[in-house]
Amino acid sequence: MIYDERIKNLNHKKINNGDYVLYWMQASQRSEYNHALEYSIEYSNKLKLPLIVLFIIMEDFPKANFRHFRFMLEGIEDVMNQLKSRKIKMVIRKGEALPIVNELSKNASILITDFGYLKHEIIMKSNIAQQLNCSMLSVESNVIIPVEVTSNKEEYGAYTIRPKINKIIDKYLIELNSRLVMQSSIDYPIKSEDISDLNSFIDSLKIDKSINESIYKGGSVEAEKYLKDFIENKAQYYSELKNHPGMNYSSNLSPYLHFGQISPLYIALKIIKSDIKSKKDFLEELITRRELAINYIYYNKNYDSDIEKILPSWAYDSLISHQNDLKDYLYSLEELENAKTHDEFWNKAQKEMVITGKMHGYMRMYWGKKIIEWSLTINDAFSKALYLNDRYSIDGRDANGYAGIAWCYGKHDRPWKEREIFGKIRYMNDKGLIKKFNMEKYLDLKL
Ligand SMILES: Cc1cc2nc3c(=O)[nH]c(=O)nc-3n(C[C@H](O)[C@H](O)[C@H](O)COP(=O)(O)OP(=O)(O)OC[C@H]3O[C@@H](n4cnc5c(N)ncnc54)[C@H](O)[C@@H]3O)c2cc1C
Repeated sequence: MIYDERIKNLNHKKINNGDYVLYWMQASQRSEYNHALEYSIEYSNKLKLPLIVLFIIMEDFPKANFRHFRFMLEGIEDVMNQLKSRKIKMVIRKGEALPIVNELSKNASILITDFGYLKHEIIMKSNIAQQLNCSMLSVESNVIIPVEVTSNKEEYGAYTIRPKINKIIDKYLIELNSRLVMQSSIDYPIKSEDISDLNSFIDSLKIDKSINESIYKGGSVEAEKYLKDFIENKAQYYSELKNHPGMNYSSNLSPYLHFGQISPLYIALKIIKSDIKSKKDFLEELITRRELAINYIYYNKNYDSDIEKILPSWAYDSLISHQNDLKDYLYSLEELENAKTHDEFWNKAQKEMVITGKMHGYMRMYWGKKIIEWSLTINDAFSKALYLNDRYSIDGRDANGYAGIAWCYGKHDRPWKEREIFGKIRYMNDKGLIKKFNMEKYLDLKL
């Protein structure tokens, strides 16, 4: 069952007498547990037309670099193979979205797409929808509960969104079965890029290649392995050990969730069915925290630009009133980027992100807080953190990253005892790390 509230009519145009149904895959890059794909199959069966799945490689996609493209295209290889086994043709094109969607939608009865929450994705799709001559719908599949159903406004924190989620979640925690494809589109004649030699294909892309690939291999096959390993070997200890920087007891699923290579609904159902004891804590992160982050960037479009407009006034006023406090260290972006600070824990965390493509979750908080302490202004700190996280994290450019960085400045948090530089926002220091964790183990990690 795909509920109506997952579906948005983007242009209220008519369904044409076309040759195929077109699904433009963008945010939900997977062939399983993808409501947009299954809805497209339902439509193609109803209209007795083949289904074509389109994927557009946009070389100028904001802040995307070689590391991100490589991970994404490894995932697209998986999707292509999986769709082929379901007799669905996937067409890959390279270039700007509007002309490509325009061209392919000319012969389509209807265009269906999935739903991403970043503002440039929303604006792009809404502009395209207005310029097409066929009906365009979007289907929300990267959340458990559609964002507008959970709440019609920006939420203050986990404590305000949690009861709203809990009240209705059972309705949405339902399986999504794969629909039978009635008409094969495999032999449909339509031009596509050949990505079978992925290395030379990526070489041909005009993208920022000044950064190497991450240690994570992209794709739903890999995501499934991480989930299995997590459930079998780690989830049992998640509540006690996930915060320990020298240990690896979280799921590492965030890169796969970011690219839509695995569905949060699928993960949640697997966890619920398992008999692990950290179930509640994990679901708190996967559902409450993740959907709070999505609520935030959906309703507050200043998430990557204007710190004053994203923080609660107690946090912003307090930070501003302490902005001129004496600071022991000030580091430039270059010094931070090259992990050249006096703090060995921070440097290790920065290197972990640069080298592996992902920083330990607990260290992310410490990392973000310290940038505030070592920057002249909070605006400067905010933009440095955004730049570094989006450039090096394979799961960067994501609602969770924007919410996580904003959290370091007091977003979704509460006031604490007032102190220098930080004012009333929560403070973290190296002594706290040493007291709680075996930090030698973190420093010894081979990257
Ligand atoms: C400064 C800072 C920057 C961050 N940048 C990112 C980022 O770029 N991308 C990103 O996905 N997350 C980011 N986070 C949030 C969080 O640290 C990561 O989601 C988590 O560490 C990912 O690892 P995991 O998949 O092993 O998490 P697990 O602990 O296994 O959690 C499972 C899933 O729950 C969600 N989740 C977990 N913690 C949070 C959280 N605090 N907020 C929202 N959702 C959460 C994620 O989707 C995660 O994959 C950031 C946090 C901070 C403080």
